[in-house]
Amino acid sequence: MNNTFELAKLLISKKSVTPDDAGCQELIASRLEKIGFHIEHLNFGEVDNLWATYGDSGPLFVFLGHTDVVPTGPIDEWDSDPFTATEKGPLMVGRGAADMKSSVAAFVTSIEDFLKDSPSLIGRIGVLLTSDEEGPAIDGVSKVVDYLEEKGEKITWCLVGEPTSDSRLGDVIKIGRRGSVSAKINVIGTQGHVAYPDKANNPIHGFSDPLAELSKLKWKDQTGEFQDSVLQISNINSGTGVTNVIPGNLVLDLNVRHSPSTSCASSRYAGCFDNRMVGPPVHTPDALSAQRQASAPLGAPSVLSSSLARPANHPRSQRCSAARLILHW
Ligand SMILES: [Zn+2]
Repeated sequence: MNNTFELAKLLISKKSVTPDDAGCQELIASRLEKIGFHIEHLNFGEVDNLWATYGDSGPLFVFLGHTDVVPTGPIDEWDSDPFTATEKGPLMVGRGAADMKSSVAAFVTSIEDFLKDSPSLIGRIGVLLTSDEEGPAIDGVSKVVDYLEEKGEKITWCLVGEPTSDSRLGDVIKIGRRGSVSAKINVIGTQGHVAYPDKANNPIHGFSDPLAELSKLKWKDQTGEFQDSVLQISNINSGTGVTNVIPGNLVLDLNVRHSPSTSCASSRYAGCFDNRMVGPPVHTPDALSAQRQASAPLGAPSVLSSSLARPANHPRSQRCSAARLILHW
């Protein structure tokens, strides 16, 4: 078993479901410290971030990655324990094996090998890891970049370890990234007994037409290099769990991954979406530079009242009788 594989297995065994780092960064920091890296743990809120640097001066090459993983989903639908890296033919199966603990392991072992061969490096190497990539991404890289900017630190080159290959290692070069907009919709109805629907206002019924409409939304990509943007509903919850109560509200989470040619303002729901997003789109057709988009501040969640759904008696409400709707940004 080679070193990278061994370290990837160790990282997969740590249950680092976002935003929990579960000790991954401590492990990596101790490996890097041993070969001369200066270590800084930059923790914001409940998010762990690691900033490790080697060398004193010159251009800075940074490996950027994350140690958190998405939740496993139903455990009984896994053939093997998601937190035990399991070999299946040529594959290693485990939560985060592809995204992106194998890459993080490769960062570490390639640096170790490289410095063994070239200890007197001209320039510097950095490793930036966060545990907030799969979640809201508020207290992760964005905050670290602010910290580095304050220190006057400039990153010359950056390698991101996201899995992008299609069928063979290195067969795809990404020249951009879609933006990400998330929203939470809370449809407020009136709870009541199913025997007396005239005294209640069922948000499931009231939101069924807008729901169908939302699921059909599509925004055409104009760059020719990204998919068209569609809206995806990721969670929908309503009801008390019993069969004889009309629920009082319905909560729905949605996300749009949009191309650089599509802004929230261009959607027909411009009144609902402003330009504050989880992550702005990036397009670098020359593959040379990816500039941080200053126009989309990554801040704490705000609340945006919206008119996507209005009370039944509101003159602008034709589609949703499910009362008020609030988008949490
Ligand atoms: Zn990832």
